[in-house]
Parts: sequence; C-alpha cells; structure tokens
Amino acid sequence: MTSPPASQNLINLVWLRNDLRLHDQPIFNTLAAQSNGPGLAVAFILPAYWQQPDRQGQTRLGLAKTRFLRACLIDLQRSLYDQNIRLNLLYGEPVELLRRWYAQQPFHLHTACAQAPEEAAWLEQIATFAPLSTYTTHTLFSAGQLAPLLNDADWPASYSAFSRWLDKYQRLADIATPLPPSLLRADPYEAPFRAAVQWPDHQLHQMPPWCGRVPVNTFHGGEDAGVRHLSRYLWRDNAIRHYKDSRNQLGGPGFASQLSPWLAWGALSVRKVWAEIVRWETNNQDHEHSGWLKKELLWREYFHWTLRIKGSALFQNPAPAAFDQQRWQAWCEARTGYPVIDAGLRELIHTGYSANRMRQWLASFFIHQLGLDWRLGARFFEQHLIDADVASNWGNWAYIAGCGQDPRGGRCFNLNKQLELYDPHLTHLQQWLPELSSVTLSQVQQHQSAGPTLSLWPAPLSLPAAT
Ligand SMILES: Cc1cc2nc3c(=O)[nH]c(=O)nc-3n(C[C@H](O)[C@H](O)[C@H](O)COP(=O)(O)OP(=O)(O)OC[C@H]3O[C@@H](n4cnc5c(N)ncnc54)[C@H](O)[C@@H]3O)c2cc1C
Repeated sequence: MTSPPASQNLINLVWLRNDLRLHDQPIFNTLAAQSNGPGLAVAFILPAYWQQPDRQGQTRLGLAKTRFLRACLIDLQRSLYDQNIRLNLLYGEPVELLRRWYAQQPFHLHTACAQAPEEAAWLEQIATFAPLSTYTTHTLFSAGQLAPLLNDADWPASYSAFSRWLDKYQRLADIATPLPPSLLRADPYEAPFRAAVQWPDHQLHQMPPWCGRVPVNTFHGGEDAGVRHLSRYLWRDNAIRHYKDSRNQLGGPGFASQLSPWLAWGALSVRKVWAEIVRWETNNQDHEHSGWLKKELLWREYFHWTLRIKGSALFQNPAPAAFDQQRWQAWCEARTGYPVIDAGLRELIHTGYSANRMRQWLASFFIHQLGLDWRLGARFFEQHLIDADVASNWGNWAYIAGCGQDPRGGRCFNLNKQLELYDPHLTHLQQWLPELSSVTLSQVQQHQSAGPTLSLWPAPLSLPAAT
C-alpha cells in the first residue's frame, strides 16, 4: 500500500474497479481500522468508452459480460447497504468524474494498484489533484514480495523461470492469508452529482434462432455467488480431486474450477481461493490435482506481473496481418464453416465463457489459419468473456501468436486431431450446433479438411496460404 501524508477535511473515497467484494478487501480493512475516521464514499465507474465501437464494430461490453458485471454490482450494492453505505455507480470518463467530485467535495482516494497501462495513466493523472493510496487487491503477491524481479532486466522470460524463482526462495509460503471481514463505521457520503450508468441496450441484440435450443449460462455474478461456487467446487462436490485429468475437457460438471469470472472482477479474492485450496490439502493426502490448480493460479500471477513490467509493449504486433472483412465477418457470426470453431464461437458469444482448450483452438485458428491480427482476436474475446482480464487475455493471445513473453514459436493446433481427442462423440459440438445433431465425427473431419460435405453447414472459408 502507498500512503500520502495525512490530510484534514477530506472524506475517504473508495474506488472499486476489479475488486468488487467485501471479503479480503485491504482497502476496507485499512479504513475500518481508523478510529473516528472521516466520512466514507464508495464508487464504481463504468467508463463510457467501453461502449464505443472500434473500427471493427467491437466494444468492451458484450451481452454476457454486461450481465455478469451488473450482477456483481447489484450484489456489492446489497452488501454495502447492510453496512449503511451506498455504492455510487457513475458513468463517464473516470478521471474527469473524479476531478469534478474532488472540486465539490475533496477526498482521499483509495483504490487498487494499476494493472494495465490505461489504469496507470488514470492513477497518474488523479495523483496530480487528489491524495491517493493504492492497494494490492488482485494478486497473490504484492509488489514488495516480488521486488527483486520487478524490473525489465530481471523479470523471468518464461513461466518456468518464474516458478523456479518462487520455489528457490520459498515464496509460496509468503502468500498472505485473507483478511478477516471488517465493519465500516464512517459517515456515508454520496457523489455530489449524478452520472447515471447507461448500460448497453441489448434489447436491440437479436437472439439467433439456435439460442432457444442451448442451455442458458449458469454463471451468476457477485461475491455471494462466487464464494458459494468455490465452496461447492472444493467441499460439496470435491471436484478438485480430478482437476488435472479433467481440466482439458471442453465442459461438463466440475471439469475445471470455473472460478475465472469471479476472479477477474475480484468478486472472489485470489488469496482466499489459494487459502481454501491449502485448507483442502490439509484435509486430503493426495495433492497432485490441487497442486496443478495452484500452478494455474500462478500462471495468472505470471501474466499479471508481466503486464505490469512490460506495459504497452505487450499490445504490439511486430508483423501485423492484413484485415480481411469476409473472414472477420464469418468469425463474428460463428459461420466460418469449421464446425468445431463455430460451436466454440457460439458458446463464447452466448455464455461469455469457454474452456481453456477451446480458447486455445479459437485463438490458434484465428491467428494461424484465418491469418488475422491476433490483437483483433484478443479484443473480440475482451468484448465477450465474462472473465475478461487484460493480463491473462492479451498474455495468452500473444503466447499463441508466438510474440509474447515465453512464446515458443506460437501454437498451431490440428483441429481434426483435437476433435478426435477431446470431443470424439461430438457432445460439445452438437450441443452448440444442434443443426448437426445427426452427423458423425468422420463427416465433420472430412468437411473441415477435404472440402464441403455437410449440407447443413456452410462450406469452410477458403483460407490464406499457411502463415
Ligand atoms: C486465448 C486465451 C484467452 C484467455 N483469456 C483469459 C481471460 O481473459 N481471463 C482469464 O481469467 N483467463 C483467460 N485465459 C486463461 C484460461 O483459459 C482461463 O483462465 C480458464 O479457462 C478459466 O476457466 P477456469 O476458471 O475453469 O480455469 P481453471 O483451469 O480451473 O484454472 C483456475 C484459475 O487459474 C487461472 N488460469 C488458468 N489457466 C490460465 C491461463 N492459461 N492463463 C492465466 N490464468 C489462468 C484462472 O484464474 C483460472 O480461473 C485465456 C486463455 C486463452 C488460451
């Protein structure tokens, strides 16, 4: 945490961003510890530009993502209300809104550390007019704990090197235990003006006819739902016991933890998840699967700190591919003619979630077969994923494109082989493409590789020469 000098006559303003919770919330714990503290206001700001379409018509707020975020905010509103605090939901340009607020009611701002360069720029500007304290709310480690690595020269070039460093210095033992719940006692304050959130009007969004035939999204946003999901996964269903064996599946009950949406919005603290896994381990002797899940949380950590160190360099593409409208449109409509890809796209657009393996196929196909710029694909995911997280999303896309940290030359998948391995009975494919409910594996494979054979599905797009 960084602390400015104590200031008089300022209220405390907590600006929550991707830490939408009350448990393990260092900001509230710090403020609760202040005896006779000044007034307190809590805000979430929806940046208006998240809804402005870019050149390809993409925004940062797809339908499923909006639903999940709104549920997170409703839940937060409710739990703050129980402590007599109102959540101020504001809409506009964050720095300008905070400047306006400060001019009418000066505050000391408390918020999470910046993850992406965009947030770092916000905090830099705010610090020119308001006292500011930042907190570690989104990661397992704090900057202080990783200090020897946190510069361009010393940052590990691969996940393996990062993991070796953690082992060598036994840093996993330093992961802080989650903070106990705190009771806020300050006088509640509200924003001195209104800037009502305008949510995207998805009424205008025409649901495709196949939607009625597929299962609805089971993810519900919010801290309460996240904590219950974690408890079910670990304790009621004990699904962690097969994590390593099932995490590569395309779906199914408990196939992976499915914690990412709550982690991305901070409705669940990653330190709480870690501590619960450790607690599970004290009750269970076999740690093979739980250890693998912890490893994945460390991948998240690695991508997070990589972004913090490398900044906007991670959004660069040294060899951008040319844009192709026809291929791009087919992708957006989930009609590339490759059933395995189109099934994955439908699932992603409809639910805002897909399994890690499917994300890899989609990204690999987009980059190495459609030959489109990986950054466009990353933006597409950012629009739709309910767990969109700038570090994990852009980091994974760059990895598959072969131009990020630890690139290993990019990853290109053989879709027919992958289908045979991971969906031999077409369970996933037919769930999302009910039009193909009576086709066989070999018919799909033929369609994808030897030319159009399925009359009920578009012919595969003609692809550019291998990249
Ligand atoms: C192209 C692409 C884009 C992705 N975009 C995102 C994104 O925007 N947000 C996101 O959280 N994950 C992203 N991932 C990583 C991974 O696919 C998801 O974290 C995972 O599928 C979420 O499901 P889960 O919670 O069941 O994961 P589990 O397998 O249960 O893993 C547990 C947790 O570990 C973390 N994790 C697992 N795999 C990774 C990984 N490869 N990279 C970083 N963290 C990981 C996540 O926080 C996850 O919730 C992306 C992967 C790819 C290939």
